[in-house]
Amino acid sequence: MRRFLYTLCQCTWGILQTIGGFFVFLRYIKCKHFIYHGAVFTEWKNPDASMSLGLFVFVSETLSEKEDGYREQVIVHEYGHTIQSLILGPLYLIVIGIPSSFWAMTPMMINYRKKNHISYFSFFCERWANYLGEKVTGESSPKQKFIDF
Ligand SMILES: [Zn+2]
Repeated sequence: MRRFLYTLCQCTWGILQTIGGFFVFLRYIKCKHFIYHGAVFTEWKNPDASMSLGLFVFVSETLSEKEDGYREQVIVHEYGHTIQSLILGPLYLIVIGIPSSFWAMTPMMINYRKKNHISYFSFFCERWANYLGEKVTGESSPKQKFIDF
C-alpha cells in the first residue's frame, strides 16, 4: 500500500519531474536498473553524477568502486530527494532542482567548497535529502562527507 501511494503521488503530484525522469530513463534504458523502496534506480556511466527526478533516480555505476558503504549512502541520499518530490510536487524543480544543480555543477560553487573545505551535503537541499532518506529508509546517508564534484 505504501509503495502504491508512493508511485501514485510521484505520477500525479510529482508528475513534472517524473515525466522528465522517464525520458532520461529511456535514454539510459540499456543501463542496469533496480527498485529501491519503490523508486526506479538506473546506474548510468556518468562518473560522480547523481540525479533524482520524481520516481526515477540516476546514480553513477562507478559508485561501487568507492569506499565501503558509500554507494548505499548515496542511494539513501538520492531517495531523500524523491521524498522531497512528494513533499514539494510541482515546486520540486524550482526549490530543489535548480539550486542543487547550481551548487553541484558551477565552477564557482565547486571552488568555494574546495577552498573552504565545505561538504557538498551541507547545502540546505542536500542536507534535507540526507535527513529524509535516513528517516524514511532507516539507513545511513553520506552525512557531511567531503566529496569532490
Ligand atoms: Zn543531492
